[in-house]
Amino acid sequence: MPERTLPPGAATAPPPAPPSACTLSPEGPPAPGELLALDRQHVWHPYGPMPGREAPLVVESASGVRLRLAEETQGRRELIDGMSSWWSAVHGYNHPVLNEAVREQLARMSHVMFGGLTHEPAVRLAKRLVDITPEGLEHVFLADSGSVSVEVALKMCLQYWRSVGRPEKRRLLTWRGGYHGDTWQPMSVCDPDGGMHDLWSGVLPRQVFADAPPAGFEAEPDEHYVRHLRELIARHADELAAVIVEPVVQGAGGMRFHSPAYVRALREACDEHGVLLVLDEIATGFGRTGALFAAEHAGITPDVLCLGKALTGGYLTMAATLCTARIAEGISQGPVPVLAHGPTFMGNPLAAAVADASVGLLLTQDWAGEVTRIEQGLREGLAETASLPGVREVRVLGAIGVVQLERPVDMAAATRAAVGEGVWLRPFRDMVYAMPPFVTGDEDLARICAAMHAAAARG
Ligand SMILES: *Cc1c(COP(=O)(O)O)cnc(C)c1O
Repeated sequence: MPERTLPPGAATAPPPAPPSACTLSPEGPPAPGELLALDRQHVWHPYGPMPGREAPLVVESASGVRLRLAEETQGRRELIDGMSSWWSAVHGYNHPVLNEAVREQLARMSHVMFGGLTHEPAVRLAKRLVDITPEGLEHVFLADSGSVSVEVALKMCLQYWRSVGRPEKRRLLTWRGGYHGDTWQPMSVCDPDGGMHDLWSGVLPRQVFADAPPAGFEAEPDEHYVRHLRELIARHADELAAVIVEPVVQGAGGMRFHSPAYVRALREACDEHGVLLVLDEIATGFGRTGALFAAEHAGITPDVLCLGKALTGGYLTMAATLCTARIAEGISQGPVPVLAHGPTFMGNPLAAAVADASVGLLLTQDWAGEVTRIEQGLREGLAETASLPGVREVRVLGAIGVVQLERPVDMAAATRAAVGEGVWLRPFRDMVYAMPPFVTGDEDLARICAAMHAAAARG
């Protein structure tokens, strides 16, 4: 995931010393300086230049909600994680239940191919996902990352229409401000500005964009906007395969919240005009917004649902694409009666086992109570941040807190300010935000809020 654009200031951290010794000594643990030099020389980071211009922090281990650094940084050896490693580590790090699930599966098999073979972890996980997701989603494709699960979702929709004799229905509609991943089809439905569509003009398929949804989870739905959505879907119905959106929370595209009424309106308009609806819950799934899935806020079932990020509790990379019986039957009765997709590591047993354990762990807890507690903690802890000079807005929904600034954040200064408070945050664009693990205690949560305040003040 995603820092859609490099904000000014992203490159202002002092670069690490140029590499001198360009190998790691074979004996003993390498010094952090050695790692950094080689990292800078050889290793791409998300949305990073080469060679790297910001010096990353070297993490030695992680446990609970704490990241342990390889060396003291601004007087801190440990940082409270405010990011859940990009929405994923909802139970924190090094969790005994998840560790045990991996260990047990490791002793059986780490991987076998999924073509012609199957195994308990994948079947268990698929059944569990069918049971807990909105009624009507029956079939599960286990993919290896969120972006791939979106590719699969879109392929399902396009192939469905080909199979039922409507091959001209192959465009997609979304609203602005979204984020759906970094591979080609997902990129085409990311926000056209934040998603750097200019860079890719002539390369990306051109999709249909509605305006961004009006802000506010609890705001009264705007009738003009609903009409705008309906009209656009009606106008393009003959060429549209599907509408794809993130329900209720737009994540990496700008951390904006909107009324579930717009998601309901999309469902209605799609049904009316024969267009499929894909919900991308890769960020919102598994409780983050206060509902187990954000579709529940709207009370609807999509035709296709994408899950990822928190699926494995942040342990391994795995995502899932679920669809209804109608989609699966449509594809399977077509001239090419198979879903033509099959990654090498599809259904990886280790990832499936830890995913099943992670979802199980979530469901045996009062996860909704924890998310509400974090929501209240973020609201209280950020109450004073709203009146800081340079702060445009503070918004909180579920276990997501966002401080929106009036100008692009100085990423390096803001990160340094948070680290100085003993907290790991990753501000981007004009935002300082947090989505802490659900196991974050009240004291740690207060420190995360203090760090967000400091980052907003200095960034
Ligand atoms: C992170 C994200 C993706 C992409 O998932 P990756 O695992 O990074 O490929 C897609 N959609 C949404 C909403 C996301 O937050």
